Amino acid sequence: MKKKKKNLTTVIFIALLCGAFTGLVLNLWVPEGYFRDTVIVNGIFYVIGQGFIRLMQMLVVPLVFCSLVCGSMAIGDTKRLGRVGVKTIGFYLLTTAVAISVAIFLAGLINPGLGLDLGKIQGTETVIAEKTSIVDTILNIIPTNPLGALAEGEMLPIILFALILGVILAHRGEKADTVSSFFSQFNDIMMDMTMGVMKLAPVGVFCLIARTFAGLGLDAFVPLLKYMFAVFLALAVQGLVVYQVLLKLFTGLSPVKFLKKFAPVMAFAFSTATSNATIPLSIDTLHKKMGVSKKISSFTIPLGATINMDGTAIMQGVAVVFAAQAFHIHLSAADFLTVIATATLASIGTAGVPSVGLITLSMVFNSVGLPVEAIGLIMGIDRILDMTRTAVNITGDAVCTTIVAKQDNAVNVEIFNRKDPLAG
Ligand code: ASP
Repeated sequence: MKKKKKNLTTVIFIALLCGAFTGLVLNLWVPEGYFRDTVIVNGIFYVIGQGFIRLMQMLVVPLVFCSLVCGSMAIGDTKRLGRVGVKTIGFYLLTTAVAISVAIFLAGLINPGLGLDLGKIQGTETVIAEKTSIVDTILNIIPTNPLGALAEGEMLPIILFALILGVILAHRGEKADTVSSFFSQFNDIMMDMTMGVMKLAPVGVFCLIARTFAGLGLDAFVPLLKYMFAVFLALAVQGLVVYQVLLKLFTGLSPVKFLKKFAPVMAFAFSTATSNATIPLSIDTLHKKMGVSKKISSFTIPLGATINMDGTAIMQGVAVVFAAQAFHIHLSAADFLTVIATATLASIGTAGVPSVGLITLSMVFNSVGLPVEAIGLIMGIDRILDMTRTAVNITGDAVCTTIVAKQDNAVNVEIFNRKDPLAG
């Protein structure tokens, strides 16, 4: 299973390189004309690339809705842990909001999309974000008709409705078993569908990238590299600075020791690109090497893998700035607030498996009227970013867990400070 995923990673990467090469050849050496432009670039590449994007969009509403209902059923279960549970969720939401703010700030400095004109590529129409005031933005979160919101794909109202539904389902417990298991099963089915669509990613990525490079030539290289750099930088700031400052501030424990002992778990998350798969290793490492009680971590780590995706939020923040610049769309302060709110909540709706962050990204784009076509461009290079952000996602869970556990006197400091025999 794991091997298969790795193969897909390699294939997507090869598709990206081949697509870029094909596009450049078309741009530089094939003369303009009916065959190149109408048949290949705006015919075959366009239809297959857009078809793939539409397949991804098809998944957004049902996937996010079910995933959120399930995520919030887990939150509703916090009465199991009371104060600790509430504190954990508070931390999770706060670190996600910080993560996306850091990402937007750094992307604003790096300007990854500047110099790129995606609107120039024929058929990629620019959608100007509707200007809404902050008051309206807040009011619009409450759906007057939840089914209408689902039909229209209005994400914030959908998110609110799903969260309330999940909490009520959790409170009703066995009395709502049928409905709860309907959502859990439907969630699994949507995950299967997502994995199926992702299998088509190499073909989709090839066509999307080839078309972009055929239209823009070498102009597309630098912005993409800048985009990757901005994501890596923001991930590093979150993982190495924000978390470590929080850890030191709230627990007094050594961030260096934490990083050294937790590094193997990060490496595992990096190679699998799935938070879910790292849950057992994370709990075990926190327990054996850092003395964090399993009573706390066995609840907070799985919860974090479900609802806390700081790395994913970072990618989404940078992607928003990239797309806005590449399409020359001005985003207002209210738009950025919407992005922070949507991405924080999208983090709850992002399952801890590979690539789902890209799907929830389209809902973040939709929330401020950015064209989802930009996702096609960044998708080709997303795999390596997915691996890196997953490492940050699970580090966030572990740091929050250690903080909450320490405040609950559930960390054996002696074990935490002990030299890790495996680290040498
Ligand atoms: N791969 C990420 C995770 O499992 C989710 C994502 O951003 O796609 O944490």
